[in-house]
Amino acid sequence: MKNLMKCFICGNTFSENSPEAAMPFCSQQCKLLDAGRWLDEEYGLPIENEESIQQPEEFFENHS
Ligand SMILES: [Zn+2]
Repeated sequence: MKNLMKCFICGNTFSENSPEAAMPFCSQQCKLLDAGRWLDEEYGLPIENEESIQQPEEFFENHS
């Protein structure tokens, strides 16, 4: 019987036996998002908008 976990980063349910799982997250991506969300808050960016993190510095200058 599978143990389903709920990822508290993205809200997806996943199996802890999943090869993509990075306990207690559903994936390495969510694990990284959790690690980086404090930085996100510092920059005022939403957690889920990961693409913004990869924007060039001009992005921050234009929106600061
Ligand atoms: Zn997740």
